[in-house]
Amino acid sequence: LKTTMKPLRDMAKYTGRIARAAASGERVADVLDVVPAIRDADGARAITRADGTVELCSVTAGYDDGAPVLHDLTLAVPAGQRVAFVGPSGAGKSTISLLVSRLLDPESGQVRLDGHDVRELTLDSLRAQIGFVPQESVLFSGSIRENIRFGRLDATDAEIEEAARRAQAHGFIMEFEHGYETRIGERGGTLSGGQRQRIAIARTMLRGAAVVVLDEATAGLDPESAADVLAAFDELTASATTISITHDAATALAADRVVWIEGGRIRLDGTPAELLQDDDGVFAAWVRQQWDDPQVLLERAP
Ligand code: ADP
Ligand code: MG
Repeated sequence: LKTTMKPLRDMAKYTGRIARAAASGERVADVLDVVPAIRDADGARAITRADGTVELCSVTAGYDDGAPVLHDLTLAVPAGQRVAFVGPSGAGKSTISLLVSRLLDPESGQVRLDGHDVRELTLDSLRAQIGFVPQESVLFSGSIRENIRFGRLDATDAEIEEAARRAQAHGFIMEFEHGYETRIGERGGTLSGGQRQRIAIARTMLRGAAVVVLDEATAGLDPESAADVLAAFDELTASATTISITHDAATALAADRVVWIEGGRIRLDGTPAELLQDDDGVFAAWVRQQWDDPQVLLERAP
Protein backbone atom coordinates (compact mmCIF):
# COMPACT_ATOMS: atom_id res chain seq x y z
CA LEU A 1 0.00 0.00 0.00
CA LYS A 2 1.32 3.42 -0.88
CA THR A 3 2.56 5.34 2.13
CA THR A 4 0.92 8.47 0.78
CA MET A 5 -2.48 6.92 1.42
CA LYS A 6 -4.28 8.57 4.29
CA PRO A 7 -5.41 6.54 7.25
CA LEU A 8 -8.49 4.61 6.31
CA ARG A 9 -11.57 5.76 8.05
CA ASP A 10 -13.96 5.19 5.27
CA MET A 11 -14.48 1.59 4.32
CA ALA A 12 -16.67 2.44 1.35
CA LYS A 13 -13.81 4.06 -0.50
CA TYR A 14 -12.02 0.75 -0.51
CA THR A 15 -14.91 -1.40 -1.51
CA GLY A 16 -13.81 -1.39 -5.15
CA ARG A 17 -10.28 -2.30 -4.22
CA ILE A 18 -11.44 -5.12 -1.99
CA ALA A 19 -13.87 -6.39 -4.60
CA ARG A 20 -11.05 -6.48 -7.12
CA ALA A 21 -8.84 -8.29 -4.66
CA ALA A 22 -11.52 -10.87 -3.95
CA ALA A 23 -12.11 -11.39 -7.64
CA SER A 24 -8.45 -11.76 -8.42
CA GLY A 25 -8.00 -14.31 -5.68
CA GLU A 26 -5.57 -12.10 -3.80
CA ARG A 27 -5.45 -12.91 -0.13
CA VAL A 28 -8.23 -10.58 0.82
CA ALA A 29 -7.19 -10.61 4.44
CA ASP A 30 -4.01 -8.81 3.35
CA VAL A 31 -5.98 -6.05 1.73
CA LEU A 32 -8.40 -6.00 4.61
CA ASP A 33 -5.57 -5.44 7.06
CA VAL A 34 -5.96 -1.79 6.16
CA VAL A 35 -9.71 -1.72 6.67
CA PRO A 36 -10.51 -1.83 10.36
CA ALA A 37 -14.18 -2.58 9.81
CA ILE A 38 -13.80 -6.01 8.23
CA ARG A 39 -11.42 -8.45 9.82
CA ASP A 40 -11.45 -11.77 11.62
CA ALA A 41 -13.33 -11.56 14.89
CA ASP A 42 -11.62 -12.89 18.01
CA GLY A 43 -12.29 -16.59 18.05
CA ALA A 44 -13.50 -16.67 14.44
CA ARG A 45 -13.95 -20.22 13.18
CA ALA A 46 -13.00 -21.67 9.82
CA ILE A 47 -15.81 -23.10 7.72
CA THR A 48 -14.59 -25.99 5.64
CA ARG A 49 -17.29 -27.43 3.45
CA ALA A 50 -20.31 -25.15 3.21
CA ASP A 51 -23.61 -26.42 1.81
CA GLY A 52 -24.26 -22.92 0.51
CA THR A 53 -27.40 -21.75 2.29
CA VAL A 54 -27.33 -17.94 2.28
CA GLU A 55 -29.57 -15.79 4.46
CA LEU A 56 -29.98 -12.08 4.91
CA CYS A 57 -31.78 -11.52 8.21
CA SER A 58 -33.27 -8.04 8.74
CA VAL A 59 -30.29 -6.48 7.03
CA THR A 60 -29.96 -2.72 7.00
CA ALA A 61 -26.80 -1.63 5.22
CA GLY A 62 -25.18 1.35 3.59
CA TYR A 63 -21.92 3.15 3.12
CA ASP A 64 -20.04 5.45 5.37
CA ASP A 65 -22.29 7.80 7.27
CA GLY A 66 -24.84 7.97 4.48
CA ALA A 67 -28.46 6.91 4.71
CA PRO A 68 -29.03 3.15 4.52
CA VAL A 69 -29.17 1.66 1.03
CA LEU A 70 -30.88 -1.57 2.09
CA HIS A 71 -33.75 -1.42 4.57
CA ASP A 72 -34.50 -4.35 6.87
CA LEU A 73 -34.09 -6.87 4.07
CA THR A 74 -34.85 -10.51 4.80
CA LEU A 75 -34.24 -13.27 2.29
CA ALA A 76 -33.27 -16.94 2.48
CA VAL A 77 -31.60 -18.71 -0.43
CA PRO A 78 -31.51 -22.50 -0.07
CA ALA A 79 -28.32 -24.33 -1.04
CA GLY A 80 -28.06 -24.81 -4.78
CA GLN A 81 -30.75 -22.31 -5.75
CA ARG A 82 -30.04 -19.91 -8.61
CA VAL A 83 -31.43 -16.48 -7.83
CA ALA A 84 -31.41 -13.53 -10.20
CA PHE A 85 -31.54 -10.05 -8.67
CA VAL A 86 -33.03 -7.44 -10.95
CA GLY A 87 -34.34 -3.92 -10.58
CA PRO A 88 -33.49 -0.34 -11.37
CA SER A 89 -30.02 1.09 -11.13
CA GLY A 90 -29.20 2.32 -7.63
CA ALA A 91 -31.69 -0.12 -6.04
CA GLY A 92 -29.03 -1.78 -3.87
CA LYS A 93 -28.30 -4.96 -5.87
CA SER A 94 -24.52 -4.61 -5.88
CA THR A 95 -24.67 -3.81 -2.17
CA ILE A 96 -26.26 -7.24 -1.66
CA SER A 97 -23.39 -8.85 -3.57
CA LEU A 98 -20.86 -7.09 -1.32
CA LEU A 99 -22.70 -8.22 1.83
CA VAL A 100 -22.85 -11.85 0.73
CA SER A 101 -19.14 -11.81 -0.10
CA ARG A 102 -18.46 -9.99 3.17
CA LEU A 103 -16.84 -7.06 1.48
CA LEU A 104 -19.28 -4.96 3.49
CA ASP A 105 -20.89 -5.58 6.87
CA PRO A 106 -24.49 -4.62 7.67
CA GLU A 107 -25.33 -1.80 10.06
CA SER A 108 -27.87 -4.10 11.66
CA GLY A 109 -29.08 -7.61 11.01
CA GLN A 110 -27.05 -10.58 9.89
CA VAL A 111 -25.69 -12.25 6.79
CA ARG A 112 -25.49 -16.01 7.29
CA LEU A 113 -23.78 -18.84 5.47
CA ASP A 114 -25.07 -22.29 6.47
CA GLY A 115 -26.66 -20.61 9.48
CA HIS A 116 -23.42 -18.99 10.72
CA ASP A 117 -23.18 -15.23 10.96
CA VAL A 118 -20.39 -14.57 8.43
CA ARG A 119 -18.71 -12.28 10.95
CA GLU A 120 -18.03 -15.36 13.09
CA LEU A 121 -16.14 -17.12 10.29
CA THR A 122 -12.54 -16.53 9.28
CA LEU A 123 -12.29 -14.42 6.15
CA ASP A 124 -9.96 -16.79 4.35
CA SER A 125 -12.28 -19.74 4.88
CA LEU A 126 -15.29 -17.65 3.86
CA ARG A 127 -13.57 -16.48 0.65
CA ALA A 128 -12.80 -20.09 -0.22
CA GLN A 129 -16.55 -20.82 -0.12
CA ILE A 130 -17.71 -17.76 -2.03
CA GLY A 131 -16.67 -16.97 -5.59
CA PHE A 132 -17.27 -13.45 -6.87
CA VAL A 133 -17.28 -12.46 -10.55
CA PRO A 134 -17.72 -8.70 -10.96
CA GLN A 135 -18.56 -6.81 -14.13
CA GLU A 136 -14.93 -6.43 -15.07
CA SER A 137 -12.69 -9.14 -13.75
CA VAL A 138 -9.16 -8.28 -12.90
CA LEU A 139 -6.35 -10.35 -14.32
CA PHE A 140 -2.77 -9.78 -13.27
CA SER A 141 0.30 -9.71 -15.47
CA GLY A 142 1.50 -13.26 -15.82
CA SER A 143 0.54 -16.29 -17.90
CA ILE A 144 -3.01 -17.45 -18.50
CA ARG A 145 -2.16 -20.59 -16.52
CA GLU A 146 -1.02 -18.54 -13.51
CA ASN A 147 -4.13 -16.42 -13.70
CA ILE A 148 -6.41 -19.45 -13.58
CA ARG A 149 -4.33 -21.20 -10.91
CA PHE A 150 -4.93 -18.24 -8.62
CA GLY A 151 -8.33 -19.75 -7.92
CA ARG A 152 -6.64 -22.61 -6.07
CA LEU A 153 -2.89 -22.55 -5.77
CA ASP A 154 -2.42 -26.31 -5.50
CA ALA A 155 -4.41 -27.08 -8.67
CA THR A 156 -2.70 -29.34 -11.19
CA ASP A 157 -2.27 -28.40 -14.86
CA ALA A 158 -4.94 -30.98 -15.73
CA GLU A 159 -7.39 -29.34 -13.30
CA ILE A 160 -6.61 -25.92 -14.77
CA GLU A 161 -7.32 -27.18 -18.28
CA GLU A 162 -10.54 -28.86 -17.14
CA ALA A 163 -11.72 -25.59 -15.55
CA ALA A 164 -10.82 -23.70 -18.73
CA ARG A 165 -12.77 -26.17 -20.86
CA ARG A 166 -15.85 -25.82 -18.70
CA ALA A 167 -15.47 -22.04 -18.78
CA GLN A 168 -15.48 -22.12 -22.61
CA ALA A 169 -11.93 -20.75 -22.55
CA HIS A 170 -9.80 -23.73 -23.64
CA GLY A 171 -10.58 -23.21 -27.34
CA PHE A 172 -9.43 -19.62 -27.61
CA ILE A 173 -6.47 -20.24 -25.30
CA MET A 174 -5.21 -22.99 -27.64
CA GLU A 175 -5.45 -20.62 -30.59
CA PHE A 176 -2.74 -18.47 -29.04
CA GLU A 177 0.77 -19.38 -30.17
CA HIS A 178 1.87 -19.96 -26.57
CA GLY A 179 -1.38 -21.48 -25.33
CA TYR A 180 -1.63 -21.50 -21.53
CA GLU A 181 1.80 -19.83 -21.30
CA THR A 182 0.53 -16.72 -23.11
CA ARG A 183 1.41 -13.68 -21.06
CA ILE A 184 -1.34 -11.24 -20.33
CA GLY A 185 -0.74 -7.60 -19.58
CA GLU A 186 -1.50 -5.66 -16.46
CA ARG A 187 -5.15 -5.01 -17.20
CA GLY A 188 -5.67 -8.14 -19.19
CA GLY A 189 -4.44 -6.37 -22.40
CA THR A 190 -4.45 -8.58 -25.55
CA LEU A 191 -7.70 -10.30 -24.44
CA SER A 192 -11.26 -9.26 -25.27
CA GLY A 193 -13.72 -8.52 -22.48
CA GLY A 194 -15.46 -11.86 -23.01
CA GLN A 195 -12.15 -13.74 -22.92
CA ARG A 196 -11.15 -12.03 -19.69
CA GLN A 197 -14.47 -12.96 -18.11
CA ARG A 198 -14.09 -16.60 -19.14
CA ILE A 199 -10.59 -16.75 -17.61
CA ALA A 200 -12.00 -15.25 -14.43
CA ILE A 201 -14.80 -17.83 -14.49
CA ALA A 202 -12.27 -20.66 -14.94
CA ARG A 203 -10.42 -19.29 -11.91
CA THR A 204 -13.58 -19.16 -9.84
CA MET A 205 -14.55 -22.64 -11.02
CA LEU A 206 -11.23 -24.02 -9.83
CA ARG A 207 -12.02 -22.74 -6.38
CA GLY A 208 -15.10 -24.98 -6.21
CA ALA A 209 -16.99 -22.42 -4.14
CA ALA A 210 -20.35 -23.36 -2.64
CA VAL A 211 -21.74 -19.91 -3.43
CA VAL A 212 -21.12 -17.92 -6.60
CA VAL A 213 -21.93 -14.22 -6.83
CA LEU A 214 -22.07 -12.63 -10.28
CA ASP A 215 -22.56 -8.88 -10.58
CA GLU A 216 -23.52 -7.79 -14.10
CA ALA A 217 -20.84 -10.09 -15.39
CA THR A 218 -22.00 -9.88 -19.02
CA ALA A 219 -22.64 -6.14 -19.11
CA GLY A 220 -20.71 -4.41 -21.86
CA LEU A 221 -20.01 -7.58 -23.86
CA ASP A 222 -21.13 -7.99 -27.45
CA PRO A 223 -23.95 -10.55 -27.85
CA GLU A 224 -21.68 -13.28 -29.17
CA SER A 225 -19.20 -13.09 -26.29
CA ALA A 226 -22.08 -12.69 -23.87
CA ALA A 227 -23.46 -16.02 -25.11
CA ASP A 228 -20.08 -17.72 -24.51
CA VAL A 229 -19.84 -16.18 -21.07
CA LEU A 230 -23.38 -17.29 -20.25
CA ALA A 231 -22.51 -20.85 -21.27
CA ALA A 232 -19.53 -20.62 -18.92
CA PHE A 233 -21.86 -19.41 -16.15
CA ASP A 234 -24.06 -22.44 -16.60
CA GLU A 235 -21.06 -24.64 -15.82
CA LEU A 236 -19.88 -22.46 -12.96
CA THR A 237 -23.24 -22.32 -11.27
CA ALA A 238 -24.39 -25.89 -11.94
CA SER A 239 -23.65 -27.12 -8.42
CA ALA A 240 -23.42 -23.83 -6.51
CA THR A 241 -25.85 -21.49 -4.86
CA THR A 242 -25.94 -18.63 -7.34
CA ILE A 243 -26.63 -14.97 -6.70
CA SER A 244 -26.68 -13.33 -10.08
CA ILE A 245 -27.28 -9.63 -10.53
CA THR A 246 -28.34 -9.06 -14.07
CA HIS A 247 -29.77 -6.58 -16.53
CA ASP A 248 -30.43 -9.43 -18.94
CA ALA A 249 -34.02 -10.72 -19.05
CA ALA A 250 -32.98 -14.06 -20.57
CA THR A 251 -30.71 -14.71 -17.59
CA ALA A 252 -33.49 -13.77 -15.16
CA LEU A 253 -35.97 -16.05 -16.91
CA ALA A 254 -33.52 -18.98 -16.73
CA ALA A 255 -33.11 -18.59 -12.94
CA ASP A 256 -34.95 -20.69 -10.34
CA ARG A 257 -36.07 -17.51 -8.66
CA VAL A 258 -36.15 -13.79 -9.39
CA VAL A 259 -36.00 -11.06 -6.76
CA TRP A 260 -36.87 -7.54 -7.88
CA ILE A 261 -35.08 -5.00 -5.68
CA GLU A 262 -36.17 -1.40 -5.63
CA GLY A 263 -35.28 1.38 -3.21
CA GLY A 264 -33.37 -1.07 -1.02
CA ARG A 265 -36.38 -3.33 -0.52
CA ILE A 266 -37.81 -6.46 -2.11
CA ARG A 267 -40.64 -5.54 -4.46
CA LEU A 268 -41.20 -8.96 -6.03
CA ASP A 269 -39.93 -12.45 -5.22
CA GLY A 270 -40.90 -15.65 -6.98
CA THR A 271 -40.23 -17.94 -9.91
CA PRO A 272 -39.86 -16.20 -13.28
CA ALA A 273 -43.26 -17.60 -14.35
CA GLU A 274 -44.92 -16.26 -11.19
CA LEU A 275 -43.40 -12.84 -11.61
CA LEU A 276 -44.50 -12.60 -15.23
CA GLN A 277 -48.08 -13.23 -14.05
CA ASP A 278 -47.94 -10.96 -11.02
CA ASP A 279 -50.46 -8.13 -10.75
CA ASP A 280 -47.50 -5.87 -10.16
CA GLY A 281 -46.47 -5.86 -13.81
CA VAL A 282 -43.06 -4.29 -13.35
CA PHE A 283 -41.12 -7.49 -14.08
CA ALA A 284 -43.27 -8.43 -17.09
CA ALA A 285 -42.89 -4.91 -18.51
CA TRP A 286 -39.12 -5.05 -18.04
CA VAL A 287 -38.89 -8.43 -19.77
CA ARG A 288 -41.02 -7.24 -22.68
CA GLN A 289 -38.63 -4.36 -23.28
CA GLN A 290 -36.09 -7.04 -24.22
CA TRP A 291 -38.19 -9.91 -25.58
CA ASP A 292 -41.44 -9.94 -27.49
CA ASP A 293 -42.37 -13.39 -26.29
CA PRO A 294 -40.96 -14.28 -22.86
CA GLN A 295 -42.86 -17.59 -22.90
CA VAL A 296 -40.38 -18.94 -25.44
CA LEU A 297 -37.53 -18.25 -23.03
CA LEU A 298 -39.36 -19.77 -20.10
CA GLU A 299 -39.93 -22.97 -22.02
CA ARG A 300 -36.31 -23.07 -23.09
CA ALA A 301 -35.07 -22.72 -19.50
CA PRO A 302 -33.78 -25.88 -17.83
P1 ADP B 1 -27.42 -1.26 -7.94
O1 ADP B 1 -26.33 -2.30 -8.01
O2 ADP B 1 -28.79 -1.83 -7.75
O3 ADP B 1 -27.38 -0.32 -9.10
P2 ADP B 1 -25.91 -0.26 -5.66
O4 ADP B 1 -25.99 -1.30 -4.60
O5 ADP B 1 -24.63 -0.19 -6.43
O6 ADP B 1 -27.17 -0.37 -6.61
O7 ADP B 1 -26.11 1.17 -5.03
C1 ADP B 1 -27.19 1.49 -4.17
C2 ADP B 1 -26.96 2.88 -3.61
O8 ADP B 1 -25.77 2.90 -2.85
C3 ADP B 1 -26.82 3.94 -4.67
O9 ADP B 1 -27.49 5.08 -4.23
C4 ADP B 1 -25.34 4.18 -4.72
O10 ADP B 1 -25.05 5.51 -5.08
C5 ADP B 1 -24.89 3.90 -3.31
N1 ADP B 1 -23.52 3.38 -3.28
C6 ADP B 1 -23.07 2.29 -3.91
N2 ADP B 1 -21.75 2.09 -3.67
C7 ADP B 1 -21.37 3.09 -2.84
C8 ADP B 1 -20.12 3.46 -2.22
N3 ADP B 1 -19.02 2.72 -2.40
N4 ADP B 1 -20.14 4.56 -1.44
C9 ADP B 1 -21.26 5.28 -1.24
N5 ADP B 1 -22.44 5.00 -1.80
C10 ADP B 1 -22.51 3.92 -2.60
MG1 MG C 1 -24.87 -2.65 -9.41
